[in-house]
Amino acid sequence: MLANALAAPLVTALGGLPGCTLTPSSGGGRHVAVVGAGAFGGWTALHLQRAGCRVTLLDAWGPGNARASSGGDTRVLRHGYGADRLYTALAARSRALFLETEQHTGARLFDPVGLLWLVQDDDSYERACVETLAAVGLAHEVLQPDEIAARYPQLGLDGVTWALTETDAGILYARRSCERVLEMFVAEGGTWIRSAVAPGSIRAGALEHLSLSNGTTLTAEAYVFACGPWLGQLFPGLLGDRPLVRATRQEVFTFGVPPGDLAHVPPALPVWADHGSRFWYGIPGNERRGFKVADDTRGEDFDPTHGNRIPSAAGLARAREFLARRFPGLKHAPLIEARVCQYEDSPDGDFLADRHPDTHNAWLVGGGSGHGFKHGPGFGELVAACVLEEREVEPRFALARFGRG
Ligand SMILES: Cc1cc2nc3c(=O)[nH]c(=O)nc-3n(C[C@H](O)[C@H](O)[C@H](O)COP(=O)(O)OP(=O)(O)OC[C@H]3O[C@@H](n4cnc5c(N)ncnc54)[C@H](O)[C@@H]3O)c2cc1C
Repeated sequence: MLANALAAPLVTALGGLPGCTLTPSSGGGRHVAVVGAGAFGGWTALHLQRAGCRVTLLDAWGPGNARASSGGDTRVLRHGYGADRLYTALAARSRALFLETEQHTGARLFDPVGLLWLVQDDDSYERACVETLAAVGLAHEVLQPDEIAARYPQLGLDGVTWALTETDAGILYARRSCERVLEMFVAEGGTWIRSAVAPGSIRAGALEHLSLSNGTTLTAEAYVFACGPWLGQLFPGLLGDRPLVRATRQEVFTFGVPPGDLAHVPPALPVWADHGSRFWYGIPGNERRGFKVADDTRGEDFDPTHGNRIPSAAGLARAREFLARRFPGLKHAPLIEARVCQYEDSPDGDFLADRHPDTHNAWLVGGGSGHGFKHGPGFGELVAACVLEEREVEPRFALARFGRG
């Protein structure tokens, strides 16, 4: 109720996603198996369960595990997506669902510390963000260089032409939120199985069963594969060759701020995004783990199961060079932690939520493309509505856009 009250007018104003009409009887007791308990699969399973399905959720290593794209401590929630109203609406809907879940569970999942976009010469994306945010009444501010310097004296402003702040943006607690979603799912009657899964054979337009790593099979009326960067490995012919879901290696570095420092943590410094020739972003505070810095540039292809997760010296040197320029007070900050994770990119950056073209009962969900976490709640709701045939597949999430529908 609260979530609808919070987000519905905004979503309508954005002309984005049509409302999802799921009710507790929509599912009619249908048995659905969801493979993958990350941001996409976990929320999809929860929405299906709440719609009255009998849901089994399976994951090889568990929700937000260290190999998963949803692993790690924190993610950015922003509404600014240039002129792209669909993702702005999806982020607004998801934010409302995160807040509702916080109330429901008492867990802290979102910190509304705000977001600072640092804009450089090519500012077309951020100018479009301003137009979209203004059109729908999402709080934001445009700052000129003297205002940025006055408000954020800890920044080096080399190359920065102006800045945009988003008030309703902030930090999501990633692994914790995946865990809470699973806990809610189980508390509300869902079945959870930790197991690796392979799809069974497809006959007469239907996926017949799942094969589990414990040697058993599981049969359901519908199947959702939300396997993140592994999706291409599960369906190599359809998604893996000329990949529609390509896993890329990404590095994240966390630096230590000086003892007692208040300049490089919220509220003095919000989440920031630096949009120059590379796209750097960071999460100050980061659950007291340090000053998180990452480069959004796509890395090389990566195997999410066996890939080498030792960060590279070259990546660290780039991060240090950036840090010295943009946050001079952290020039000599020690490295506290580093992670190698992976994006699961679609060719156009849009998500995937469509039926397997050879079946009527298997759904392929993924392609988070480095920006999927914040959308988990709203996207899961949309996927659930598609599985229950309460809405059409969103064309931007369809396989047909790649000629494979
Ligand atoms: C470094 C980094 C930074 C990011 N920053 C942001 C950000 O700031 N904001 C944002 O919104 N997004 C961000 N993203 C993107 C976002 O985290 C992902 O798009 C999102 O988490 C993808 O979720 P998923 O559920 O599709 O995949 P996953 O989280 O990978 O979940 C897939 C699950 O499927 C399971 N699985 C796979 N194969 C099998 C199998 N055969 N059998 C059983 N289980 C299986 C896995 O164990 C896994 O738990 C970032 C991603 C990374 C890597």
